[in-house]
Amino acid sequence: MPEIHAERRRQLRGRVAAEFGAVAFVITDLANIRYLTGFSGSNAVLVLGTEPAGDLLATDGRYVDQAAIESGDLPVLIDRATLAAVVDTVAPGPVVIEAGTTVGAVAAIRSRCGEPLVAGPIIEELRSVKDATELVSLELACRATSQAFEALAQEIVIGVTELDLARRLEQLFCDCGGEDRAFPSIVATGANSAVPHHRAGRHRLAEGDLLVIDAGARADGYHADMTRTWVVGREPQEWQAEIHRHVLAAQTAAVAEVAEGRSARDLDSAARGVLREAGLEDRFTHGLGHGVGLEIHEAPSIGPRATGSIMGNMAFTVEPGIYLPGRGGVRIEDTLVVTDAGPRVLTEGSRGLRVVGV
Ligand code: ZN
Ligand code: ZN
Repeated sequence: MPEIHAERRRQLRGRVAAEFGAVAFVITDLANIRYLTGFSGSNAVLVLGTEPAGDLLATDGRYVDQAAIESGDLPVLIDRATLAAVVDTVAPGPVVIEAGTTVGAVAAIRSRCGEPLVAGPIIEELRSVKDATELVSLELACRATSQAFEALAQEIVIGVTELDLARRLEQLFCDCGGEDRAFPSIVATGANSAVPHHRAGRHRLAEGDLLVIDAGARADGYHADMTRTWVVGREPQEWQAEIHRHVLAAQTAAVAEVAEGRSARDLDSAARGVLREAGLEDRFTHGLGHGVGLEIHEAPSIGPRATGSIMGNMAFTVEPGIYLPGRGGVRIEDTLVVTDAGPRVLTEGSRGLRVVGV
């Protein structure tokens, strides 16, 4: 797919030329490099020149073959001192760097090229709108995720630990077409379900517990993200059913707002408004969602302080939750993509408060 990467570099080159009078954009963020070149190794620097012929990918000797396979259209510089070696090839003149460039890399660049200019999140903005190739990978990751959640739901037994479920789910991700987990799975049962970012531990599933599972598969480097809340072993208690009903209503309201041109903040407000009416707004302690793609958290950010607008082919999560400390919590999360016809939810499967472990 070298044409796709060349096209992405062309788009970026146009923006860099318009906004900076620089001779090169020195890119060190690995997800940005993968997006622009296809290269997925763990050490790389990309120099984007003012002309396509000036582009150069640098990495070290471990990746000679991989760089040739993944980024065959680009010249590759192999050097253990990767950054210094590639920066030495840049013609005299101002260079641009990403805002997230490490202090050490900035120092190395400054010593060779002078004080660099710092770009805004222009690559991240390009990445937030997915092309057809990316959507295929994201759909694959989301399908593997949905199928694995369904398979897991059918085999849960009371008494297993959160870690047991996390490991099994991650195996299922690969069985269902994923290449790996997208991030360390959150499996939280009982009072742990009130902790939004609880990590799976040795706590055992007990009858009557809420069970929050927030996890995703990765495919072709693309990350899925999905959360379901179930109840263990018996029909839910009234308070469990009630908070689940409110979270589901909040998620449904936010998803219904998804359309090109809406402000990201409006989506968050739609969910938060439903929870406010239920008197539970202060129990929704995080933003509504985040973009997904080559990283599990990327642009756009969907929250009360978000400033951006929703664009066609953006892919992001919608994940309201209610957390009652010491008792339990509910979160429902889906990954969706914005189409002309509105939202298309990629993580399918019932959102109901399902009884598992019977
Ligand atoms: Zn999640
Ligand atoms: Zn998420």
